[in-house]
Amino acid sequence: MYDIGIIGGGTAGLTAAIYAQRAGKQTVILEAMSYGGQITATHKIENYPGIESISGGEFAEGLMSQAKKLGADMKSEKVMKVREERDHKVIETEGNLYECKAVILATGVTHRRLGVQRETQLIGAGVSYCATCDGAFFRGRNVAVIGGGNTALQDVSFLSNYCKKVYLVHRRKEFRGEQHLVELLKEKENVEFVLDATVKELIGEEYIEGVVLNRVGTDETMELQVDGVFVAIGHVPQNDVFEDIVKLDGSGFILAAEDCQTSCPGIFAAGDCRTKEVRQLTTAAADGAVAAIAGCNYLDRMDAR
Ligand code: NAP
Repeated sequence: MYDIGIIGGGTAGLTAAIYAQRAGKQTVILEAMSYGGQITATHKIENYPGIESISGGEFAEGLMSQAKKLGADMKSEKVMKVREERDHKVIETEGNLYECKAVILATGVTHRRLGVQRETQLIGAGVSYCATCDGAFFRGRNVAVIGGGNTALQDVSFLSNYCKKVYLVHRRKEFRGEQHLVELLKEKENVEFVLDATVKELIGEEYIEGVVLNRVGTDETMELQVDGVFVAIGHVPQNDVFEDIVKLDGSGFILAAEDCQTSCPGIFAAGDCRTKEVRQLTTAAADGAVAAIAGCNYLDRMDAR
C-alpha cells in the first residue's frame, strides 16, 4: 500500500512527490504521457523566481531527477478510475491496481483544439500544438501561430529564429500574454501580426498548404500560404474519469479548497487541473507543495485514530 498516489507527472505532481517523500511518505506517480507535463514544451522559462532563464525540458528533468532520487516510484500508466475502499483509495490503471492511503490529482490540462475540419487528420502533417517539439521541421518555411497568450507569443519568438516568415494570428487586437513579449516580436522583421482574425479553414489534403482566416465581425476572408500551423489557444481539463469521486466545476476543473482538498476526503487536487484564477508554473509548484502537506497531515490524522 502506498501512502500517496499521485496522478500526473507534471510540475504539480512531481513537486507533490518531492514534498511527500521528504516528509517520509512513500509515493507512486502515474503518468500516461510523458513526465514533465506541459512545461517540457516551453522553449524558455524566464519568470520562475530565482531562475533567470531555463528551458522547459531542463526544468522538468530537474524535477524528475529530484523526485526519483528521493524514492518516488514513477510509472507510465494511464489511470482509468479512482475508487474508495473502507479506509483507502484504489487507483485503477489499464493493467494494474494501486492501493493508496491518499491521492493527489495533478492531471494538468490538454491542448484546446481549433475545432475546424481536418484539424485532427493534419496533426503531424503541418498542424502542431508544440513549437518547441516540431519547430525544427519548418526551418526556412512560412508558418502561422494561432493564439494571443504567452504560449503563442513564445512560440512566435522561437519559430522566428529559423522560419522564413511567422504570422501571428489572434482573434483580438489586445494580447493576453505579456506586453514585453509583444514589443519584442514587433521588432522582428520576419514576424507579421494578423489581428482580429480566426481560422476558418485549413487548406491541404495530405499536408498543410495554407489557412483561410475570417476577419472577426465581418464576412471578409483572407488566405495565408503556410507550411505549418501552430495552435496555441489555451488548454482544457481532462478530469472526466474522476467525476464520480470528486466534484467538478461547469468547465470540468476539479473543485478544491485552498489546501487542495476536494469534495472527497483524502483526495487532493493540485495545479492546472483544479478551479483557480491563475495557472502558472509557480502556482503549479505551489499547489504541489500545498497538496502534499495537506495529504501528509491527512495520513497523520488517520494514523492517530
Ligand atoms: P491562454 O493564456 O489561455 O491564452 C490562450 C489564447 O488563445 C488567448 O489569447 C485566447 O484569446 C486565444 N483563444 C482561445 N480560444 C480560442 C479559439 N477558439 N480561437 C482563437 N483563439 C482562441 O493560454 P496559454 O498561452 O497556453 O497560456 C496558459 C498559461 O500558461 C498562462 O497563464 C500563461 O501565462 C502561462 N504560460 C507561461 C509561460 C512561461 O514562460 N512561464 C509560457 C507559456 C504559458 P483571448 O485572449 O481573446 O481569450
